[in-house]
Amino acid sequence: MKIHEFQAKELLAKAGVAVPRGIVAKTPEEAQAAYGQLGTAVAVVKSQIHAGGRGKGRFKEQPEQPGVVLVKSAEDAAANASRMLGNTLVTIQTGEEGKKVQTLLVEQGLKIAREIYAACVVDREVAGPVIIVSSEGGMDIEEVAAHHPEKILTEAFDPVYGLEGYQARKLAFALGLEGNALKNAEKFFRQLSKFFLDNDCSMAEINPLVVTEEGELLALDAKVTFDDNALFRHQNVLAYRDLAEEEPSEIEAQKWGLSYVKLDGNLGCLVNGAGLAMSTMDLIKLHGGEPANFLDVGGGANVDQVTEAFRIILADKNVKGILVNIFGGIMKCDTIVTALLTAYDKIGIQVPLVVRLEGTNVELARKMLAESGKKITAGLDLTDAAKKAVASIA
Ligand code: ADP
Ligand code: MG
Repeated sequence: MKIHEFQAKELLAKAGVAVPRGIVAKTPEEAQAAYGQLGTAVAVVKSQIHAGGRGKGRFKEQPEQPGVVLVKSAEDAAANASRMLGNTLVTIQTGEEGKKVQTLLVEQGLKIAREIYAACVVDREVAGPVIIVSSEGGMDIEEVAAHHPEKILTEAFDPVYGLEGYQARKLAFALGLEGNALKNAEKFFRQLSKFFLDNDCSMAEINPLVVTEEGELLALDAKVTFDDNALFRHQNVLAYRDLAEEEPSEIEAQKWGLSYVKLDGNLGCLVNGAGLAMSTMDLIKLHGGEPANFLDVGGGANVDQVTEAFRIILADKNVKGILVNIFGGIMKCDTIVTALLTAYDKIGIQVPLVVRLEGTNVELARKMLAESGKKITAGLDLTDAAKKAVASIA
């Protein structure tokens, strides 16, 4: 689960991580008042969406308006706020459709001496948490990784003890920090790693982490994502969920106990089992197709769930065909075919449908499909099914 920058900063501040002073605003009047309350000559008005790249992003309705802007008066804050609120911000991370801005964060403007980068993530190769730092903060870290990999430092840390003092010092030295900044960096990196562990984050990214002229370190930006599987033990985090930021079809799928992730392709997939769903998508790509989604109906899907799964897949206007891939282990193949045929009639599936079945009662299930009189193509095996499905919409 993702949260907004202002929410991440609330949590970070509670965990003792230094963040700038800021006030949330939902109207231009609130933004105007916030400027006054902050009392700094320069303030920053920041669009709150679940995506980065806001500083360089532009609004669809106001192409001159960036997503993050410095303001020097209350009127300026209000004017910028009214150009942002209710409008759609497009950044490199939102895709072309952009995201609607409904909340702003008005923050004290900081005198920045240096911008660095710090993030904690789970490293799959290390099989544990790592902290990544770079002297090149404020810009796309992907760019730095591609062109200056030597400027990125990674340090694995113990998932119980967190980042040790000597590790934090090593990173701070490597970044060339001195004096106050060195001490503060050591503290910052350790607090960030503790925050990451305590909250079961999958990512806690501070970009930029600013060093002020006085050697203070503050999280100027904060992007935090949480491991969904651990959210049950973080009710305070769960309360931050913003459904307006999530894909409506994914929310709908969750209600039905379906694991569904919308993608950009045009071939829908309905599969039982997450691993099988991944390999189905791989095979679709291998044979020149583009999956429209990931969908795992689970081991014990019933007629209602399968019907709903088809409805969700077909609600995506890009979908031109569907590949159903079922391995009947716990689930019997004939049960899934009964569900499939019922769903077919209920929804009136108009696009080409390719079905591959294997496992318990497969002979009976194939017979049912063949005798159904519906326009359903049988896949002989997974490769054959993927090829036929890709060809059906070519
Ligand atoms: P994003 O990563 O989505 O573009 P950031 O929060 O990183 O958004 O803001 C973009 C840039 O705006 C920062 O790199 C920084 O230069 C400037 N900025 C953001 N907040 C402040 C602030 N409180 N004071 C001064 N400059 C800021
Ligand atoms: Mg940023």
